Amino acid sequence: MAARILDGAALATEVRARVTSDVAYHTTHHGPVKLVAVLVGADPAGQLYADRQRSLCVKTGVQYELIELPDDVAQRDVLAEIDRLNGDPLVTGIIVQMPLPHHIDPAMVQWRIDPYKDVEGVNPANIGLLFYHAPIIAPCTALAAIEMIHASGCEIRGAHAVIVGQSRIVGKPITMFLLNEEATVTGCHVATRDLAYHTKQADILVVAVGKPGLIGAQHVKPGAVVIDVGINSIRVTTPDGKETRKTVGDVNFDEVAPIAAAITPVPGGVGPMTVAMLLRNTVQAAQKQIARRES
Ligand code: NAD
Repeated sequence: MAARILDGAALATEVRARVTSDVAYHTTHHGPVKLVAVLVGADPAGQLYADRQRSLCVKTGVQYELIELPDDVAQRDVLAEIDRLNGDPLVTGIIVQMPLPHHIDPAMVQWRIDPYKDVEGVNPANIGLLFYHAPIIAPCTALAAIEMIHASGCEIRGAHAVIVGQSRIVGKPITMFLLNEEATVTGCHVATRDLAYHTKQADILVVAVGKPGLIGAQHVKPGAVVIDVGINSIRVTTPDGKETRKTVGDVNFDEVAPIAAAITPVPGGVGPMTVAMLLRNTVQAAQKQIARRES
């Protein structure tokens, strides 16, 4: 039987509706929820991303401001800007758009964001708190992957979860989340010998690598839940011979969908849920700042 397609866009719509009502409540009782994004350098992709963020924020009632800093800004000036935003009580969320120019250390910048305003959950304090099963704000993509697994209806506790890709912001947080939910977890990465041996054992297979088609039918146990985090832009030729680009994941969807129990498509799976988790984190950050002030 073909896999259930886990519709991230539909789930994201539900999350955004809840966020909109939470933002309205927060605005009435505690003041606006305000997200500030810092963009260093005139990167067109960064601008496009910021435009999308602004439009989603406006739709959910979140105030949005973009601060643009020049390409050659000194690292200490970026850090000073973050300090200013950390200290501004009207700013409830901060994002620093990646990638940063080479002379700026992303880890230093991520360290500097107040963990209560770190809506992407990238401050090492928030990532470290995952070990305690208690992040103030968790990384959005890991949250999205976990929400998609929950949406599949499968029981995480006791399941064997295999996570392919172990980056700091994506793969490792997903691994830790699943351990916290008492799955038995295997972490695979670029140095894993015989990837298929491991992935074939997975009841839950999460793939976050950035290699189109890495996971095929030979990697998947029949009946597994497959979560494809990868986003890759590949060149394809249309039937009328035109060259165009297409977004695909790390999983060969056509091969794996017939054998999995549930699978996320790309696009339309983890991606839209990641954006929804950013919005949810944004309102939760504002709520947690109120709780911190009152405690
Ligand atoms: P990364 O480059 O930081 O990490 C890649 C990981 O994959 C590493 O742990 C590496 O060891 C592992 N790896 C590389 N080649 C491998 C191989 N052949 N077999 C097994 N493991 C291998 O990447 P990242 O930032 O974690 O992103 C991973 C993918 O997820 C990318 O496609 C990225 O675009 C996508 N992504 C998607 C979302 C979303 O919202 N859906 C968000 C963030 C990242």
